[in-house]
Amino acid sequence: MTHIATDEILLDHASGAVSPPMALLLATHLTLNPEARRRYRALEALGGTLLDGIAPTATRADALDRLFARIDAGDGRDTAAAVATAPPQADTALPAPLRAQLGDGLERLGWRQLTRGVQEAPLAPVQGDGPRASLLRIAAGRAVPRHTHRGDELTLVLAGAFDDENGHYARGDLAIADPDVEHQPVAARGQDCLCLVVAAAPIRLTGPFLRLLNPFLGR
Ligand code: ZN
Repeated sequence: MTHIATDEILLDHASGAVSPPMALLLATHLTLNPEARRRYRALEALGGTLLDGIAPTATRADALDRLFARIDAGDGRDTAAAVATAPPQADTALPAPLRAQLGDGLERLGWRQLTRGVQEAPLAPVQGDGPRASLLRIAAGRAVPRHTHRGDELTLVLAGAFDDENGHYARGDLAIADPDVEHQPVAARGQDCLCLVVAAAPIRLTGPFLRLLNPFLGR
C-alpha cells in the first residue's frame, strides 16, 4: 500500500492555498510518488471541466463530492496515462524541489540530536505560529520517541523507510498525523531514513522519557 496526500490537500496545493513549507513538501511528494502525481493531474484536469458544468448556486462541497465521485469511477484515466513519468533517480538523490532550496548543503544545516540515532534540522527560522519544515534523520533501526501532535504533521520519506502503528512508509510516501494520532516511527534496518516534516506545532512526547526530552522539543 502506498500513502499519498488526500484529495483535499492536493486541491489546496493546485489552487495555491497552502503555506510555503507545505508547498515545498507537496512538490517534493509529487516528484517522488507516481501515484500522487496521477491523482494530482486527474484532479487538475477534472476540476476545470466540472466547474464549467455546475450551477452558480452549488456549494464548493457539492462540487468536490461530484468531482471525487467521477475520479473514483475512473474518469480521468486517459489524462493519467498521458502523464510522463519522471526520469529515474538514484534512491538517495535529493529530489529537485528540495535541492533547489538546499543546494547540496545537507550537512551545513543546523542538525541537533533529539535522541540517540535521531537528528533534526530546521529548514528555515520559525516565524510566528506558522507551520515549520524540518529534515528528520533516523539512523537505521532507531526510533523517534513516542509522541502525539498539537496540530497536523506531514512526514514525507526522502530516503530509507520507516514503520509506525499505521503502516510502512518508503521513499515518496507521505504520513499524515494529527492530535488523534499517537505513534512511534521506527526506521527500517539497513539504511538511514531521511524525512521532510511539516508540522503545525511541536510534537508532544508521550513515552517514558518525556521529561528528559521535552526541553529539546519546544513548548
Ligand atoms: Zn508524529
